Amino acid sequence: MKSHAKAVVIGGGVVGCSVLYHLAKAGWTDIMLIERSELTSGSSWHAAGGFHTLNGDPNVAKLQAYTVQLYKEIEEISGQSCSLHLTGGVMMADTPERMDFLRLAHAKGRYLGMDTELITPSEAKAMFPLMDETNFVGAMWDPVEGHLDPSGTTHAYAKAARKLGAEIVLRNRVVELTQEVDGTWNVVTEQGTVKAEHVVNCGGLWAREIGRMVGVELPVLAMEHMYLLTEPMPEVEEFNKSTGREMIGVLDFKGEIYTRQERNGILLGTYEKACKPWSPVNTPWDFGHELLQPDIDRIAPSLEIGFKHFPGIEKAGIKQIINGPFTFALDGNPLVGPVQGLTNFWCACAVMAGFSQGGGVGLALSNWMVHGDPGFDVWGMDVARFGEWATLRYTNAKVRENYSRRFSIRFPNEELPAARPAQTTPLYDTMLANNAVMGDSWGLETPLWFAPRGSEPKDVVSFHRSNDFGPIGEEVRATREKVGVTEIANFAKYEVSGPGTEDFLNRLMTNRMPKTGRIVLTPMLNEFGRLIGDFTIAKASPRGGEERFMIWGSSAAQKYHMRWFEKHLPKDGSIRIHRFDQTLVGLSIAGPKSRDLLQKLVDVDISTKAFRFMDFREMAVGGAPCMVNRITYTGDLGYEIWMAPAYQRLVYKAIKEAGEEFGLVDFGMRALLSMRLEKNFPTWFRELRPIYGPFEGSMDRFIKLEKNDFIGREAAAKERAEGPKLRRVSFIVDAADADVMGDEPIWAKVGGKDYGTVEKPHGYGAPRFDAGGKEVRGSNAAEGASAVRGIVDGDWRVVGWITSGGYAHYVEKSMAQGYVPAALAENESAGLFEIEILGHRRPARINVEPPFDPSGEKMRT
Ligand SMILES: Cc1cc2nc3c(=O)[nH]c(=O)nc-3n(C[C@H](O)[C@H](O)[C@H](O)COP(=O)(O)OP(=O)(O)OC[C@H]3O[C@@H](n4cnc5c(N)ncnc54)[C@H](O)[C@@H]3O)c2cc1C
Repeated sequence: MKSHAKAVVIGGGVVGCSVLYHLAKAGWTDIMLIERSELTSGSSWHAAGGFHTLNGDPNVAKLQAYTVQLYKEIEEISGQSCSLHLTGGVMMADTPERMDFLRLAHAKGRYLGMDTELITPSEAKAMFPLMDETNFVGAMWDPVEGHLDPSGTTHAYAKAARKLGAEIVLRNRVVELTQEVDGTWNVVTEQGTVKAEHVVNCGGLWAREIGRMVGVELPVLAMEHMYLLTEPMPEVEEFNKSTGREMIGVLDFKGEIYTRQERNGILLGTYEKACKPWSPVNTPWDFGHELLQPDIDRIAPSLEIGFKHFPGIEKAGIKQIINGPFTFALDGNPLVGPVQGLTNFWCACAVMAGFSQGGGVGLALSNWMVHGDPGFDVWGMDVARFGEWATLRYTNAKVRENYSRRFSIRFPNEELPAARPAQTTPLYDTMLANNAVMGDSWGLETPLWFAPRGSEPKDVVSFHRSNDFGPIGEEVRATREKVGVTEIANFAKYEVSGPGTEDFLNRLMTNRMPKTGRIVLTPMLNEFGRLIGDFTIAKASPRGGEERFMIWGSSAAQKYHMRWFEKHLPKDGSIRIHRFDQTLVGLSIAGPKSRDLLQKLVDVDISTKAFRFMDFREMAVGGAPCMVNRITYTGDLGYEIWMAPAYQRLVYKAIKEAGEEFGLVDFGMRALLSMRLEKNFPTWFRELRPIYGPFEGSMDRFIKLEKNDFIGREAAAKERAEGPKLRRVSFIVDAADADVMGDEPIWAKVGGKDYGTVEKPHGYGAPRFDAGGKEVRGSNAAEGASAVRGIVDGDWRVVGWITSGGYAHYVEKSMAQGYVPAALAENESAGLFEIEILGHRRPARINVEPPFDPSGEKMRT
């Protein structure tokens, strides 16, 4: 074993071997993989080997499609077969709601390059005759599904990596990880110590233990999982003989079941409700190639549904039940990327579908390590997406919830209950007493809307407008016409201080930093000129002679942004960044009476001239020390007031008392989001994400190319010079009783004209590889879109996608935001656009000026 390596990958399951292969392919050959036992000694050896592309996050879905396409390549390089069976598969809907869910998934596929098709239950039965099709109302066909040999596939990655120069060391456990002052890792193993620049945690079932070696508790938990194999079935053999084809894979939402042909019989697996974590606190190091005791009682309810839906299977004898553990993060997607707070410690773990996702995970992580950027929008699997609140017990509750609802529908207005409440503000009980319906905002309980007195504060989950529609409308109207108050503790808040802070922020941000007492809005870009942040920044008065700035951003991106800030901080420690998290909470008051209300609570003049739009001031509010921003996301006259949690009840009480004479109402997050829609304001993670450039995102006025040399400036200048390919636009939609949810396709009547890409950009910047292993550079290249069914319909063509939307209650319009080719973005003409909502194409019109207060006069008053 060598004693130095550029990177050490810990773990020889399918994920570790994929990471090793992709690193070697990207040109790092001084790398090694260290495996405790033999390859596939964790979950990988007993997997059912199924693969598919569907994922709730379209970006993860694309990486799954890459994984499937990769198998031919590794077979060729390694000479090792993966025993690939590309059978295709169907997802069966048993209710109209599940059919709506499939329609949504199918619609997304239109611009993602996925060739799915909605079919009838009888058509599905023709491909899987063991089903009783009368149990279903419809189905979706996906040709990119199948199964493979898990062990062969893992070895194919490993052999391909070896051929490219990587080293694999077996039967050698990593027992300790320490780091030198210069950042070098000491990877202490049973066979000696390896010095490495980078360490990758691909520990699978032991990923948590490897995290603990560096002081990190990763939110990952193993669950027991069972599938059964039947004896050979004559019906299967008969089908194969008569059609010359294998039976397809079937996913049955109702039973949380997947099933497919395995040799001459059937394999059937379940995600049972009565699920069971495995080794919830510590994973034993001596666990290896053994299986767990099957527990048929646990899966009996799922099997009952399964046998009703697939009566052909009930008749067959059960040959074997496999029960093995594999790992999940809270939302079922992997944990990938550099761990915030550590240097060169990387994760590729919690990969619950290693044979659907392993290739994409390996590609994204290797890009990140070699080129400094994943090259794709990997937020859906970024290890930074969970906060400190994701403790061992929180993870346990959430993973069990996720497992038991693996194939359940998540409605757009559905909040999941497990592990809640976790974090609460001092106003939590008050909000409950006010009949608030609470939601989970990055682990924090946040009021979403207020149910009428006497009614149960609960969402009726639906794809359509629901029981919150009326009350939200009232919150919005009262705020727009008088004044409203809402909690805003769920924003990210940071203080940056120290000599040189202004220069530091000017280098990170695209806008010029404000003068003392003023606020700016500013995007942040990566080196490739892609949007990686969107902030509100205020310059506070110096403290102890030191420059001081306050930053507000997206709550969910706190670790993601801290990782970026820390990467760029001067190494001498002269600049400090403090992340407040819930040690700073807030309230926002908005509406035409908000100034009169606030004036009653402060001892300074806050008239229009004395406290202008975009001013920042530290002042006492209701007797509590606060910071106040004269800005609000409602786009009205309004204020954001920030205070230590100990003062929040005092300030809220003062606002409520002072507000009585003005008709003050409480409003929740949903009313806030409704109001931002009628102002055409974007949101981070929906409209603004790292797949878009700043001009594509229509953030033009915040991009000061003429100022200093900020990160991403060159690429942004190029984007402007060449003209953005896409533009973010706002639509008014002629919706019926359902508004957009996000990810719907946008159709345009373009005749024969080609307006450029119709496929959602997925990769960007850093080099990446196409399905054939060829390096691809660039940004918005359409990837195989022409192969997709259903993007052209006569003169109509899918030209873009919706990012978010809903009902804008004050202007009484259904609104949406999304991306279209730039050449179409200025075109307001009616009859040109349609947006596909739940399978119905609804007329839509681009709305260049916001329908509420287009001149911005109200917010500047
Ligand atoms: C019953 C069952 C059915 C499944 N069916 C499917 C399916 O149909 N499709 C699908 O895609 N997925 C399926 N899976 C999930 C799949 O098995 C996992 O997604 C995949 O195996 C994860 O691979 P991994 O490399 O992350 O982890 P693992 O396979 O657990 O590999 C981790 C490796 O790291 C090694 N290691 C850990 N700690 C150390 C250390 N300190 N030093 C050295 N080495 C170490 C371990 O020995 C192990 O070999 C199934 C799983 C089960 C249990």
